[in-house]
Amino acid sequence: MAKRDYYEVLGVSKSATKDEIKKAYRKLAMQYHPDRNPDDKTAEEKFKEAAEAYEVLHDDDKRAKYDRFGHSGLKGGQDFHGFNNVNDIFSHFSDIFGGAFGGGGSSIFDDFFGSGSSSRGRKRTQGTPGSDLRITLKLTLEEIASGTTKKVKIKRYEKCSTCNGTGAKDPSAFRDCSVCGGTGEVRQVSRSVFGQFVNISPCQNCGGTGKIIADRCTSCGGEGRKQTDSMLKISVPAGVHNNSYMTMRGEGNAGKNGGPAGDVIVIFQELPHEYFVRDGDDIIYELFLSFPEAVLGTEVEVPTLTGRAKLKIESGTQPGKFLKMREKGIQHLNSHGSGDQLVKINIHVPKKVNQKEKELLKELEKLPNIRVT
Ligand SMILES: [Zn+2]
Ligand SMILES: [Zn+2]
Repeated sequence: MAKRDYYEVLGVSKSATKDEIKKAYRKLAMQYHPDRNPDDKTAEEKFKEAAEAYEVLHDDDKRAKYDRFGHSGLKGGQDFHGFNNVNDIFSHFSDIFGGAFGGGGSSIFDDFFGSGSSSRGRKRTQGTPGSDLRITLKLTLEEIASGTTKKVKIKRYEKCSTCNGTGAKDPSAFRDCSVCGGTGEVRQVSRSVFGQFVNISPCQNCGGTGKIIADRCTSCGGEGRKQTDSMLKISVPAGVHNNSYMTMRGEGNAGKNGGPAGDVIVIFQELPHEYFVRDGDDIIYELFLSFPEAVLGTEVEVPTLTGRAKLKIESGTQPGKFLKMREKGIQHLNSHGSGDQLVKINIHVPKKVNQKEKELLKELEKLPNIRVT
């Protein structure tokens, strides 16, 4: 079956804004949501088709590729998911949108459908998910240029080793929850203009596990986790940008009673450098030459990110000129190679001169090649 145009699928124009795309997708996802269309294959197909179109069009890079090359410009599995079933869609989008901002448990579907309106497709997990941790990591330009590994001390909840995260004194310390009868779920039926909904939400009493602990672990007080000082090893890829961030999945706070751990979100902060100003993956260094050096040419030593290096100055080098030291900049984040070090030539003009220098300069000034005519 030939694929339909993504814009057509979402019913938006080629110039639609991200917001319009999101709104259009939300509308379709509501309309074809499997909870509203049980056992309706056509609706399911439409739901998948819309998810794929949204996945591509809400991403600037993928959208640009699609705009230029159409469907053939996108790689299945990489640029779009080729969703096999609706559960894939839930888990995929919760991967993208969950965690980083919502404390581990929220997804774009919470945003679209309201929290707890549907549990279909959501993975039922034990316990309460742990929260995310944010770390700001200060990096020098040298560290950014070639990548680095940092060890950071963090305080986080970790799984209690005494009870292996269960919170119970021993495996026989569990009883069936009386509120949900051991199912871990509470069902509620509600009606709306769209029809009948069955709301299934995790049981509050047992945290969705179906079990309650009669005898708590004394080490963690029944939470299944303990606050610990730990060392986190962070591998920083080369070429990261100031204020960009990286998510370390599952490295955040452990969940309660065996719930999934949150993430660590590492925010990179670039420290100002003594000599260099960063320009993308290039670095700029300002070099002051004396007037005779610029006229006659010379060889100078300049700092680079990997130590000092020699640089040849041709005779007659003009102020404002950039000399390029190839591959002496910052390694590209997503491709091979590095940026350059650009050396900007400046002429040093002394503010004070002594009597002898003054006389020589006056002599110099009379010469035809020195004088500005
Ligand atoms: Zn414990
Ligand atoms: Zn319960």
